[in-house]
Order: sequence, then C-alpha cells, then structure tokens
Amino acid sequence: MQIEDYIKAGKIAAEVRELVRKKDWIGKTVYEICEEVEGEIKKRGAKCAFPVNASINEIAAHYTAEPNDPITIKDTDLVKIDLGAQINGYIADTAVTVCYDVQFDGLVEAAEEALANAMSMIKTGVKVSDVGRTIEATIKQRGFKPIANLSGHSLEQYTIHAGRSIPNIWSIGGFSLSETAYACEPFVTTEQAGGFVRNGQIKNIFAINSRKKTKNEEADKLLDFIWENFNMLPFALRWITKKWDEKKARELLQILIKKKAVQAYPILIEINEQKVAQAEHTFIPNDNGVTITTKI
Ligand code: MN
Ligand code: MN
Repeated sequence: MQIEDYIKAGKIAAEVRELVRKKDWIGKTVYEICEEVEGEIKKRGAKCAFPVNASINEIAAHYTAEPNDPITIKDTDLVKIDLGAQINGYIADTAVTVCYDVQFDGLVEAAEEALANAMSMIKTGVKVSDVGRTIEATIKQRGFKPIANLSGHSLEQYTIHAGRSIPNIWSIGGFSLSETAYACEPFVTTEQAGGFVRNGQIKNIFAINSRKKTKNEEADKLLDFIWENFNMLPFALRWITKKWDEKKARELLQILIKKKAVQAYPILIEINEQKVAQAEHTFIPNDNGVTITTKI
C-alpha cells in the first residue's frame, strides 16, 4: 500500500470538494460542473479516478455529464457531487451534497453527521456491521432513512470497488477493518422513501471489462486508448470525444459494450423517487484510530 500516494490524492480531492461545497452552482449545467471539477483535480497534479458524478435529486449516484449535457441546476435541486483523484492508481473518493433550499438541509446534515459518527469509531479490528449500525441509527434519529442497498467499499490500486462493502445499515456478519483503504458513504433519503435504489435507463459511466480484441480495428484502437489512459478505472464519453468525434465515439463504444470489452453502469434512482443526500470520505484505519485521507 502506497500510503503517501493515498495521502496526496486525498489532499487534492478534499481541496476540490471544499471548493465544490462553497460554490453557487445554480444555473450551471452538469457539463460545466463535471468539466470544471475535473479541471480542478488535474490542475493540482492528480488524475481523475472516475468521471465526476453530478446526481440530482432522486438520482442517488452514477450520473455524469454527456458531452455538452444541458441539464441545469435549479435552486430547489439537491446535487450530489462525487469526485475522485488518483496518484499512481491510489484513489481518494469523496462526495458532498450541495443544496440551496433550506427545506432539504436536514438530509444533507444527516449524511454529514452519519459520516462523522462512522469516522469517529474507526480503528483496525472494528466490525463493519457496527459501522453500519451507527450510520443507520444517526440517520433514523433525525427522522430519515438510509439507502440500504448502497454502501462504502474497499479500495485498491486502480480499483474503486475492491470487493469489501461498508454497509449503511446494520447487517449480520461482515468483516473487521484492517489497515487498508476504504470509502464510507452514507446515503440519506426521506421518511416517505423506499430506502432502496433501482437501476435507471441512462448509462453514462463505463469501464474496461476485458482487453480481449474485438476484431474491429477501430474499436480495438479505442480499447487501447481507454486502457492506456484510464486503466481499469471508470470513464465517460466526454473523455473520449477529445480524440474521436462524438458520433464515432458512441458507435465504437457500443461495439465494445456489445463485445463485453467494456461495461456500462446505469444511474441509480431512489425507488420512490425521493430526494437523496450523500457524504463520503476515504480513510485508512490504524491501531489507534484512523487517517481520513480526504479530511481537510
Ligand atoms: Mn464516491
Ligand atoms: Mn465511493
């Protein structure tokens, strides 16, 4: 584990997240948001670990801007901006919810408080089922619901979801934290919500599945480009259209998806279409406590 690179990536991600939190995004398009936030990450000397997610209202996660995406932020929107920086493949994954309507402040505060309470109990050996219990209790105490089928995750070099899950609810079993990197990300929704997400129709985040050749020369060229630039990490169409024109890029990407060389990830929507807030940190437990790499 390259702790220095985790720390460097974390510092950059945290700085950018705080810029995002302070900024007034009303009237901006999701395209402008994603491009600006990704620019802030690169400006500080890191690469993006994944396309910036700008998921609005009942969309809990996994929406990133299409090329020139015109969707515009309104003053009643609850926007989860989830960003990742990486140094040599060591990832910092962090998120903030921006909200300009006091009516929804409670949801945002509940997500932040659940994350803070979870962080305060972390050290090696702590059971993730207990972390989930704390997150769930914090959210319910405020009269809201956690999203049961979204969770945090272990991280490895060039791998965002490395196999272990950190639940947002109490659940039986689970493992104990070791001295490795994880992300914790409580998602909070309303009392009227189902408390679960379902897959939506839209898919605008992708990642390599296999480097097996497709026998289509142009598609294979795109596959090589993806591997060289993003490795196994997620990418967006926006990141390809700097080299291929949009029509061609969509066509080649569809071939790669069909051949299962590339996987497309659907957006995740709250089943009762209730608003969702999120907060997220990346952390590394130790015997005395925790290093929160994305803490400011
Ligand atoms: Mn994230
Ligand atoms: Mn995450």
